[in-house]
Amino acid sequence: MYKLSGLELRNLFLSKKKSAEEITNYFLHRIKKIDKEVSSFLKVFDEKALKKAKELDQRLKDNKPIGKMAAIPVAIKDNINIEDEITTCGSRFLKNYKAPFSATIVKALEEEDAIIIGKTNLDEFAMGSSTEFSHFFPTKNPWNLKCVPGGSSGGSAAAVSSRMVPIAFGSDTGGSIRQPAAFCGISGFKPTYGRVSRYGLVAFASSMDQIGPFATTSLDLALTMEVIGRSCEKDSTNFKLPSEIYLENLPNSFENMKIGVPYQFLENVGPNVRKNFDESIQTLKDLGAEIIDINLDVLKYSIDIYYVLATAEASTNLARFDGIRYGERSKNAKNLEEVYSLSREEGFGAEVKRRILIGTYVLSAGYQDAFYKKAQKVRTVIINAFEKAFSKCDFVALPTTPDSAFEIGSIRDPLQMYLQDLFTISANLAGLPAASIPSGFDNFKKPLGLQLLAAQLQDVKLLQYANVFEKKTNFYKQIPTLFDKEIF
Ligand code: GLN
Repeated sequence: MYKLSGLELRNLFLSKKKSAEEITNYFLHRIKKIDKEVSSFLKVFDEKALKKAKELDQRLKDNKPIGKMAAIPVAIKDNINIEDEITTCGSRFLKNYKAPFSATIVKALEEEDAIIIGKTNLDEFAMGSSTEFSHFFPTKNPWNLKCVPGGSSGGSAAAVSSRMVPIAFGSDTGGSIRQPAAFCGISGFKPTYGRVSRYGLVAFASSMDQIGPFATTSLDLALTMEVIGRSCEKDSTNFKLPSEIYLENLPNSFENMKIGVPYQFLENVGPNVRKNFDESIQTLKDLGAEIIDINLDVLKYSIDIYYVLATAEASTNLARFDGIRYGERSKNAKNLEEVYSLSREEGFGAEVKRRILIGTYVLSAGYQDAFYKKAQKVRTVIINAFEKAFSKCDFVALPTTPDSAFEIGSIRDPLQMYLQDLFTISANLAGLPAASIPSGFDNFKKPLGLQLLAAQLQDVKLLQYANVFEKKTNFYKQIPTLFDKEIF
């Protein structure tokens, strides 16, 4: 069953070839066997998942209405709230924080009868590119257990890659869905900023955070977007647009599509990634696309700008974790001041502290104009550059990552880690939808991804064309050798 996509599993259920209980048991069993090695899950909801499955089986028997994601097991990154369950954000600070309400996307998934099977690991507060900086444990890359799965949504990516679950959800502030999707050889999608509700997602950098799906096929990504891409009154940045239909009138080629490639910006890409990217561009040409050279040189500033803006927003958002309303209170505190300072000192890890310090610095009097306001201005220049690009083409193509998955522990310099985000960050700065689709392997048999970006609110078109690329290349059918076996 592990080779099946979410849509295929749903059809097995609807045609009564497999019960929801059988499907759920199968994946629970797979998690038990495989997660010992991969370490994707922080929590597995065995009982709740089976209860939901049995209820669905009964509903199907009684001919009652069934939702769009019926009997599809899904996993949720542990910075997204599920009512009455712990949301750790990968942090020691929140290791006992019980969510008082469910995120809008969780409600949508429940309403459409997905089976929520567990919560997945992440870099603390979604800050990172490797999932090594979870307080609990690092997650491994299913293609090579010595390597990182990427981050910060590494738990969700590794879970889908090793087929412990067909679909999982993550959050993407600077690449945290697309980069781990590329490292793990699966598909990942960051929707247009505001297309999916952020209500119930623990905020990191609110002007860039966006929830999105991981899956083995872009049609599964599309299915989840039909469910989570809906209007939400509780998120003021939500577009308040009705759900869209993704899975109809699917194109078969890139005919009449123009794809912009910023060749100059890509000049320094390493040979492995470059070769793979050029092959993907050739495939797109073979599929009928017209490739045009576009100027997006300003993207070379995107890392600098992101790490000013994201840290500034994070320092403000994380101010609420004070040991009083949220988070573990220090047992060593003797007065109010110490409740704040010691709780934060003991609760946050090194990377989170670093970001709070940088963010506080760039927002402080005297430095705000030099750093924060300047970064905002360059952000506008990036937005304008994309607008100009999309007046000439339908999609922009980039590699997803500057390299394939690196070894656990091999990047110790935080600045080096930030360079991972070179190709993903600009979509967040400009609020654009972007997908990473498997594009083959490097010389070490490690997966790589092709990234396609589109203009704002072109989410449907983007995923529909991602499907065209995927059907031609078939990389999505490859499963990490270690886990490419039926468990039962
Ligand atoms: N790697 C980036 C960072 O560390 C992106 C994280 C994310 O998208 N949540 O900030």
